Amino acid sequence: MSGTRLTGRIVIPGSPSYRQDRQNLNLSIQKYPCIIVFCQNRCDVKNALKWAREHKTPFRVRSGRHSYENFSLVNRGLIIDVSEMKGIVYDPQKQMAYIQAGAELGMVYQQLWDNRVTIPAGTSSSVGLSGLALGGGIGMLTRAFGLTCDSIEEIEIVIPCETRGAKVICASQTKNPDLFWACRGGGGGNFGIATAFKFRVYPVANVSIFSITWNWEDFHASYNSWQKWAPFTDKRLTSQIELFASGTITASGEFLGSPKELQKVIKPLLETGTPLNVMIQSIPYIEAVHFFNSPGGNRPVSFKRSGSFVYEPLPDKAIETMKQFLENAPNQQTTIWQQALGGAVMEYAPKETAFFHRKAIIAQEYNTSWMCKEQKQENINWVEGVRNAMKPYTKGDYVNWPDRAIKKWPCAYYGSNYKRLRKVKTAYDPYNVFCFSQSIRPYWPL
Ligand SMILES: Cc1cc2nc3c(=O)[nH]c(=O)nc-3n(C[C@H](O)[C@H](O)[C@H](O)COP(=O)(O)OP(=O)(O)OC[C@H]3O[C@@H](n4cnc5c(N)ncnc54)[C@H](O)[C@@H]3O)c2cc1C
Repeated sequence: MSGTRLTGRIVIPGSPSYRQDRQNLNLSIQKYPCIIVFCQNRCDVKNALKWAREHKTPFRVRSGRHSYENFSLVNRGLIIDVSEMKGIVYDPQKQMAYIQAGAELGMVYQQLWDNRVTIPAGTSSSVGLSGLALGGGIGMLTRAFGLTCDSIEEIEIVIPCETRGAKVICASQTKNPDLFWACRGGGGGNFGIATAFKFRVYPVANVSIFSITWNWEDFHASYNSWQKWAPFTDKRLTSQIELFASGTITASGEFLGSPKELQKVIKPLLETGTPLNVMIQSIPYIEAVHFFNSPGGNRPVSFKRSGSFVYEPLPDKAIETMKQFLENAPNQQTTIWQQALGGAVMEYAPKETAFFHRKAIIAQEYNTSWMCKEQKQENINWVEGVRNAMKPYTKGDYVNWPDRAIKKWPCAYYGSNYKRLRKVKTAYDPYNVFCFSQSIRPYWPL
């Protein structure tokens, strides 16, 4: 046995921080790894992958710990954690940012804002940039600038080589282009361990934001008005709508323009039903980041979430289905959340990157959380119930919102891109070293 040693900060079950260090955001799925290695650089990552292969130990890759199904954890195995690799360097000449794989969204936004630039990414500040970007990445600048993965110029990644080895390579349009294609929407944990990203950045200053809330009586009208407008309006505006089991509906959004222009753009919403509250204001971009960052989303909790894509505005029957489910939700925290797509997302064809659902107009998510474990099954049943009931009107699911209950997950996440993803897997990980219940399979296990 060759003697590769684990390097980095190592935590094992007897370590004082083990309990905290093994815990992911979703408390409902508990796993007990035998070693967690907090890598400090790419060399530690390479050693960890080699060590796992030499010892034939199951392993998972982890960054921000937000996997819905805790695919970044494994029982009795090794966790290769990159979350202590957080360097961010901005190059103003090239308008590029070099970001290490352990950075969380909150720090990425803040440090880029210090230079008055940003990247389009997600809303919760504690989400890991790695997991988010490798699966696509949607957020409040998506319609203006595209998915997070659309702004990646290059990825540094540690992949398996030979029967027990590991090596660092780069993937870009010119270097390992197939792998680059696969890493833009193929999802984390499939091909290798990303250690750093080079991103194109965008100048930002002030933005305008809005929020409108309606009562339950306006459920059909407000939702219908939003869905027929949000994915098709001015692409400088990205908006979301949240349908709360507690009895209200809130649409909100971020606009790269003045409040006066925004007022005109959101006119169809302002004229719908009887809004309870309307807010429109211009604020510095970083304040908008804070506005859309739900603090609850950053705290560990037991939850079940799943999702789907909407390709055509939903008919009345589907809207009524959502309303019925919310009226019979297991608790008041339950929501259906939707974000408008279109705009820059559709500027790529579904085959241009591994992110398949380019033609969808809305990404929608079914969310529940609970406090005591007796409530777990009821909540899971609710999510699966609403997902099944919405199936006739929706397609697939976003790979960053994985759901174990989806049996035909290759088609749901990747559509017709799955074949090419398997080819890339066969080329870069033929021994299926990166393997979990919903990982991309090579064409033959060698
Ligand atoms: C509260 C909350 C808010 C969210 N908000 C958004 C949002 O606004 N927009 C959006 O698009 N998504 C959002 N998501 C979904 C999010 O994109 C995914 O959960 C994502 O996979 C999280 O990545 P992570 O690094 O935090 O999680 P982890 O659990 O660490 O990893 C997730 C997956 O990526 C793999 N992975 C992690 N790091 C690496 C790496 N360096 N190299 C290779 N593989 C890696 C893991 O093995 C795992 O399979 C949200 C999730 C939560 C829980």
